[in-house]
Amino acid sequence: MARYKESVCRLCRREGMKLFLKGDRCFKESCAINRRAYPPGEQGRSRRQKISGYGLQLREKQKVKRIYGLLEKQFRRYFKEAERLRGVTGENLLRLLELRLDNVVYRLGFGTSRNQARQFVRHGHVLVNGKRVDIPSAQVRPGDEITVVEAFKKNPFFFKNLETAGSRGVPEWLSLDLENAKGKVLEAPRREHVTLEINEQLIVELYSK
Ligand code: SF4
Repeated sequence: MARYKESVCRLCRREGMKLFLKGDRCFKESCAINRRAYPPGEQGRSRRQKISGYGLQLREKQKVKRIYGLLEKQFRRYFKEAERLRGVTGENLLRLLELRLDNVVYRLGFGTSRNQARQFVRHGHVLVNGKRVDIPSAQVRPGDEITVVEAFKKNPFFFKNLETAGSRGVPEWLSLDLENAKGKVLEAPRREHVTLEINEQLIVELYSK
């Protein structure tokens, strides 16, 4: 599957905020947003951006796509599904994105970034209700239990992540049993659970044109 392969820090600089794409480094002084808080490129430092209504909507969509590591086609599919579901489209969209397996593995702290979490899933290390699931976009449901295969618990990356898992906070809609490296989905995330700086209404407006 096609993926973005350039420096992910450029994406944060483009959006002018931390998108937390690089794991531990995002919490360190060396984070590119701390050192170069202006857009990438030759004009980045000098150019003053005046963003119009459409530009704001576009930037918001790009930001959310980048946070969850999705390409346009996949993101549109989520939007279509969110429109189809009952309820508020923007909130449905965020809920669908949060319930992706790779996101849940990241939220539990098993991976330091969504990208690393996605690798763990894709390589078959993650179990949902005791069954191996290697599809990062798989949707989890309330009641699902997420853990990793026994041998992977000794993996140095995972082991290191476990030491810090929970210290950055596990969202209310998930629970984490650190001792057994097991997480559980307590409920579907509600809007107030998604603490990212996102204005999903702008995305709805963009796609409704
Ligand atoms: Fe973004 Fe993390 Fe890079 Fe900082 S270190 S710019 S938060 S990806």
